[in-house]
Amino acid sequence: MPVSAPMLAGNEKKYVADCIESTWVSSTGEYINRFESAFAEFCGVKHALTCSNGTTALHLALLALDVGPGDEVIVPTLTFVATANTVRYCGGTPVFVDAEPDTWDMDIAAIEAKITSRTKGIIVVHLFGHPVDMRAIRAIADRHGLFVVEDAAQAHGAECEGRRVGSFGDVGTFSFFGNKIITTGEGGMLVTNDDWIADKVRLLKSHGMDPQRKYWFPVIGYNYRMTNTAAAIGLGQIEKIDWHLSRRAEVAKWYREELEGVPGLSWQIEQPWARHVWWMFSVVLDEKLPVDRDQVMSDLRGAGIETRPVVIPIHALPPYLDFARGEEFPISERLAGRGINLPTWAKLTREDVRYVCANFLSVCNLESAVGSIPQAADSAA
Ligand SMILES: *Cc1c(COP(=O)(O)O)cnc(C)c1O
Repeated sequence: MPVSAPMLAGNEKKYVADCIESTWVSSTGEYINRFESAFAEFCGVKHALTCSNGTTALHLALLALDVGPGDEVIVPTLTFVATANTVRYCGGTPVFVDAEPDTWDMDIAAIEAKITSRTKGIIVVHLFGHPVDMRAIRAIADRHGLFVVEDAAQAHGAECEGRRVGSFGDVGTFSFFGNKIITTGEGGMLVTNDDWIADKVRLLKSHGMDPQRKYWFPVIGYNYRMTNTAAAIGLGQIEKIDWHLSRRAEVAKWYREELEGVPGLSWQIEQPWARHVWWMFSVVLDEKLPVDRDQVMSDLRGAGIETRPVVIPIHALPPYLDFARGEEFPISERLAGRGINLPTWAKLTREDVRYVCANFLSVCNLESAVGSIPQAADSAA
């Protein structure tokens, strides 16, 4: 049982066949326009621009916002490495913030202490699909004149007070890698309401060529385009995104039902103002449980169940040791050291989830604890 797998159950095959039959397989074609329009409508934003992946979408966002050497950008340490790498691509300095224990998103209360005269912006990450409180982020950003980029690579469709992520920041970015909520194989999307940013990104993602004048390159650009074929898959996916999201919500609900009340287990607590889209259902094993996280994962592998550790915080990775400034990030380290991502994707059945949980509790020696404390861990969710 894989930890995740794509579900290509809609029009993807038909649209890809159309690309091949029409020979529109490269980076122009109707599917790019249709996917961009559908995605902009889904996020409630003015512009959606396809990119080659979620990393190039982030890079383009930071280029459009003029991040350069000497600029500091505040980022969570508990995220996928690309969030900080793209700051470094621009020569900027990532400044790390620890996680918050309930949502696992960046600790908003810790941000202001990190702001200096060199701080240019904040990249928030809606970790595992739980949105960051964007009202609080906007208030801080407005108070200090900072840009906000939403790295929504794991959070297509997540909402703060009924409004979709990607629409709050100056720019929002998404990934369509094979294990994300929807996929194009490899792919990304940049969304914005700002016409000027959209124009700049359109220029930069296509070699920097002047749209009015062939082979005139006023700036150094990149080739960060998506193909029409990938966009054809993406259109098939976005047409069915409500189904993908409701399947994931159901899988997460089943996990909570199975694991609710088991002492020593916890997971992200969905806030009352939030819609969590459950990219991963991830469980943390409390230190007082006498089990080794990596041993649990390897025992589950023996039962045919693939799991993943929660990401290693970026401040602990070799290229970033100097950026950590000797600070400590205890919440991120705890989640990273004790967290396990359980299989989370749209095709899982009630029986699959029951099988995963039965094995998980058994390898943790927790079977006898099931139901012993009714309604504990999830009561706030
Ligand atoms: C997946 C991911 C990315 C990078 O997206 P790719 O499409 O793999 O380049 C960036 N940030 C986060 C938080 C991610 O999960």
